[in-house]
Amino acid sequence: MLPLKINDRFYNELPADPERTQSRRQVKAACYSYATPRIPGNPTLVHASKEAADLIGLSEEDLKSKNFLDIFSGTKKMEGTDPYAMCYGGHQFGHWAGQLGDGRAINIGEVEHDGKTWALQLKGSGETPYSRTADGLAVLRSSVREHLCSEAMYHLGVPTTRSLSLIETGDQVMRDMLYDGNAAYEKGAVVCRMAPAFIRFGNFEILASRRDVETLRKLTDFTIKYFYPEIKVGTADAYVEFLRQVARRTLTMIMDWQRVGFVHGVMNTDNMSILGLTIDYGPYGWLEGYEPGWTPNTTDRQNKRYQYGQQAQMAHWNIYQLANALYPLIEATEPLEAVLNEFRDNYSVEYPAMMRKKLGLAKEEETDWNLIKQLEETLQLIETDMTIFFRLLSKFSIDEVSKKDSYFLDLMEPAFYKVEALTPEIKQKWNDWAQAYADRLSRETQSEDARQIGMNLVNPKYVLRNYMSQLAIDQANEGNYDLIDELYQLLKQPYAEQPESEKWFAKRPEWARHKVGCSMLSCSS
Ligand code: AMP
Ligand code: MG
Repeated sequence: MLPLKINDRFYNELPADPERTQSRRQVKAACYSYATPRIPGNPTLVHASKEAADLIGLSEEDLKSKNFLDIFSGTKKMEGTDPYAMCYGGHQFGHWAGQLGDGRAINIGEVEHDGKTWALQLKGSGETPYSRTADGLAVLRSSVREHLCSEAMYHLGVPTTRSLSLIETGDQVMRDMLYDGNAAYEKGAVVCRMAPAFIRFGNFEILASRRDVETLRKLTDFTIKYFYPEIKVGTADAYVEFLRQVARRTLTMIMDWQRVGFVHGVMNTDNMSILGLTIDYGPYGWLEGYEPGWTPNTTDRQNKRYQYGQQAQMAHWNIYQLANALYPLIEATEPLEAVLNEFRDNYSVEYPAMMRKKLGLAKEEETDWNLIKQLEETLQLIETDMTIFFRLLSKFSIDEVSKKDSYFLDLMEPAFYKVEALTPEIKQKWNDWAQAYADRLSRETQSEDARQIGMNLVNPKYVLRNYMSQLAIDQANEGNYDLIDELYQLLKQPYAEQPESEKWFAKRPEWARHKVGCSMLSCSS
């Protein structure tokens, strides 16, 4: 037996779909449907997160046990639980899509440890009433990406769901990776995700769309009670305050995404956590060259709705949908509009504040915005690696700029993908910016050392570049899991200098520029 203490709140306190079959159906007046994880053919543990295990009180010994493999592969049920799939809807790429729900995620229970409760969810463990036309399964490729990125984001300080374990099922899964008619078998896998809750904006939207105000109120009260306990439920004002707090948490998350160069790729309202956590790692990607218009998701190549530079606006759009869903509990538009405006106002304060931190500016000056804008423009003149640029910027020395003309471009050389592309005009623009930055820094009171330390706490040295995941995936498909653990260990300290891992502080190699999985990702997973 694993030492897990069950405390199933969602399932005990909210209405269930009475039907127990897995037949695809529209589920009314319920927050979830019962679902049984599929028993895998030959499960093997690929990787587990010791840090995530700690949170629920599991030891390293536990992770190696047969019980662990049984429970987290879906082979056996945890005693005293009744697994279920959650009912939600969503706006996908700007359009209402109706009921979606956990088509391939099954909640196996909530466990309590150290005064906190964690919902455990298997992703890729088979059909549920919400699977629509799909199989409820996940492939090793996308599961490696979810497992590594969840944990990497946590260590970067970005609010996120966690990943406890990555298990190969031993079963084959058919996927058309590029949606080009070339379907093939791939290895199947199951990830166990952890979060205080997996409730999404879409859980509220589906109830509002069905005018089921009673269940909507139950779900909202439940969410407030456990996750926004500072709000007193029972009044319309409480629901407005709830929306306000969700908006704040969402903005905090987005600011972290912008800071580290993370692009989610599918910010549909069904992929927006009500707790402001990064959730559903699919065709996400990391900015390499700084390019606000970039999206990793091939499905979004045309409209680029979820491009890096638009993530805050898309979050705003999603909060607007959540406001609509909560309207029946509030029945007034003005306070909802006020929350939406507040989000915009907060963004216009928090974005420059975040950028000032990246630049190491401790005090605020009115002209900082010009410096930031000028930087954003200059960064786009030739392909310039965002992570490397900001990390190297902490080494910037005011004294050196005036001593040597080429100082700044020499410092930044490792960040440029093609140094030859630096024309005299572009060099001049960079030198102008460096001069403006030096002038600005000269008015700072903190020491250069203090500035460097501060900058290195917000500008990561190591992020999970797509090609890194792809290398780990290629190895894993051959049965070698070493690189998964190497990257996992590396990304536990993304802000630390790790001299033995200097090879990962490098631009994306040229071979990865157009390779599937590195620069192009589809939703197929
Ligand atoms: P996504 O935008 O990828 O997070 O997924 C949108 C919806 O499709 C959600 O309701 C998922 O549960 C569902 N879904 C995605 N992949 C599968 C699959 N292989 N089997 C069943 N449902 C799926
Ligand atoms: Mg999703």
